[in-house]
Amino acid sequence: MADNNQNQNQNQNRNGFNDGGQNKPGSGFSLTWLYIIIGIALLFITFYDTSVPTKEVSYANLQNYIWEGYVEKIVVVTNENLAEVSLVDDSVVISEILGSDAKKYTKKPQISSKIPSAEKLDDLVTAATTEKGYTIDVTYEERKDYMGTFLWSFGPILFFVILWIIMSRRMTGGGGIFSVGKSKAQVFDKGSNKMKITFKDVAGLAEAKQEVQEIVEFLKNPVKYTKLGGKIPKGALLVGPPGTGKTLLAKAVAGEANVPFFSLSGSDFVEMFVGVGASRVRDLFRQAKEKSPCIIFIDEIDAVGRARGKNPSFNANDERENTLNQLLTEMDGFGTNSGIIVLAATNRADILDKALLRAGRFDRQISVDLPDVHERKEIFEVHLRPIKLADGVDLDLMARQTPGFSGADIANVCNEAALIAARRNKEAVDKQDFLDAVDRIIGGLEKKNKITTAEEKRSIAIHEAGHASVSWLLEYANPLVKVTIVPRGKALGAAWYLPEERQLTTTEQMLDEMCALLGGRAAEQVVLGRVSTGALNDLERATKMAYSMVVYYGMSEKLKNISYYDSTQSDYSFTKPYSDKTSELIDSEIKSIVQGQFDRAVKIIKEHLSQHAELAELLVDKEVIFADDVTRIFGPRPWKTRMDELNEAEGNEGIEGNIDKTNETDE
Ligand code: ADP
Ligand code: MG
Ligand code: ZN
Repeated sequence: MADNNQNQNQNQNRNGFNDGGQNKPGSGFSLTWLYIIIGIALLFITFYDTSVPTKEVSYANLQNYIWEGYVEKIVVVTNENLAEVSLVDDSVVISEILGSDAKKYTKKPQISSKIPSAEKLDDLVTAATTEKGYTIDVTYEERKDYMGTFLWSFGPILFFVILWIIMSRRMTGGGGIFSVGKSKAQVFDKGSNKMKITFKDVAGLAEAKQEVQEIVEFLKNPVKYTKLGGKIPKGALLVGPPGTGKTLLAKAVAGEANVPFFSLSGSDFVEMFVGVGASRVRDLFRQAKEKSPCIIFIDEIDAVGRARGKNPSFNANDERENTLNQLLTEMDGFGTNSGIIVLAATNRADILDKALLRAGRFDRQISVDLPDVHERKEIFEVHLRPIKLADGVDLDLMARQTPGFSGADIANVCNEAALIAARRNKEAVDKQDFLDAVDRIIGGLEKKNKITTAEEKRSIAIHEAGHASVSWLLEYANPLVKVTIVPRGKALGAAWYLPEERQLTTTEQMLDEMCALLGGRAAEQVVLGRVSTGALNDLERATKMAYSMVVYYGMSEKLKNISYYDSTQSDYSFTKPYSDKTSELIDSEIKSIVQGQFDRAVKIIKEHLSQHAELAELLVDKEVIFADDVTRIFGPRPWKTRMDELNEAEGNEGIEGNIDKTNETDE
């Protein structure tokens, strides 16, 4: 229900104040006129036929009529061997020849006939006039078929022109050929409070909300920030899995910003015509400059922002690159203080071109994650607003029942529950309706591999607790910040670490990190006696680390101080710089390093089995645990970590802001 309302609002907005690129009043030549002109021309050609309808008769009959003196006038169309004959004004004659058709052929000429040749007819007429004394007026004319000639010479061209117009209209969604290069942005102007979505409609996402609110602040009061010499950011990128509220957040910005808001989707730039994308980008920014300060929102920016190919000749889609280049240029082009902020959203930040993400363009990345228990409760609150609730609906329970649900999934649950209740003819939506709705959605979503069963949840908790335990107990492993079993995107669970910003990595550090990576699978092995596919990402990274230790850094026993790294290497070298024997050695070294660290992780888990179990249980219960919880169970780490230093310096808070990026996920 909530969704429906919002959709209606959106539609209203669409119709309400779209004065974007396409339908500008008085923008020169309107396409409708072209159509009308073509239509009239066609009608004219079809019906502009001056010839009078005639009754067709055989040549033999015509000969008779001439001999009988019924004929007054003949027009011979020489190039068609046709005779058009006017009869004498005699009702007897006319009724004899035309019979019942007399009413149809009232105008002269009344009959026509194919003739063998003009000469034959001429002879006949001459004979009849001289012998019988009739006067028959014979004229000759050549008749050009203007219509046919015209169609044959211009028809095909006309056909293609019309086809082209229709196709271009299709492709531009009604804009017509004269506006392909115009941007298709919708503009939400300030002062129009039709945009009903506000920050109140966005639940959870506290940090993301704060970030975008700050952007709104920048535009409202730029002087406050620039007077100290600071520069206002040019762009912010909302990144997160689908359905987490990125578009919603942008709409809320539009609703609250009080500046013009240009909204369009990345795919709006893409067109079959070459150069259209780039010119649309130009047009968009031109419009934006006129209305600055303003916000441009590009949804699903990965459609244009995908990384450009390294090898241009292999890449057919130059058009998209041109569009991207133009976007980059425009983002650099306007002065920092000109008051245009570009907001973009994507769920594929990993495939975006690096140039887009560099400082000065989308220098702020705002991550919009799947909600945890508390955020889910808040989202439920938002979407339950329009729903008639029965007593006894427990929001906490609902939130706990929906791990891994995105905001969109929760909106869907609420709507589904209302529909189920309506189907059951209830007065209000009760608890059972919600539980059924959740079941239904999980059933529908299971394919996404996101929603986990209780057993899977436990398995994931054991795995993640394994990472947490091992990394906690190793001196050089990155200090843990947060572990979660809320599935995020592709990952089923994740552990956040605070990576040390170091330029050099020692062998011990690499080994400890590998050991922590393998801790997840080791825990599954020890506790459950079986392993699962959940460790794919861990194994990949551990193996790559071992490979680089052996092949690049010369850190293994048997290949000490040898590096096969080639900094000049091109992309297409197929030869290995070492012998087959060495490759066997490399394989065995990698194997032994990985195996060694796995055994070490198993040993650590076995030694701390009860603590690990406690951690896993806590994780099942709370879904997210923090370093504090781990400290409580394992006791403080005996060595001073960077986190401790930070804690001392800043007083406990302020760490979570700069974590992430090297967090570790499990598929
Ligand atoms: P995306 O991140 O894929 O752009 P949307 O912003 O389009 O997702 O969200 C889809 C719908 O899900 C929204 O219209 C809203 O109803 C619901 N939704 C998602 N996240 C939230 C949230 N944090 N608070 C309230 N509703 C949300
Ligand atoms: Mg979206
Ligand atoms: Zn793992």
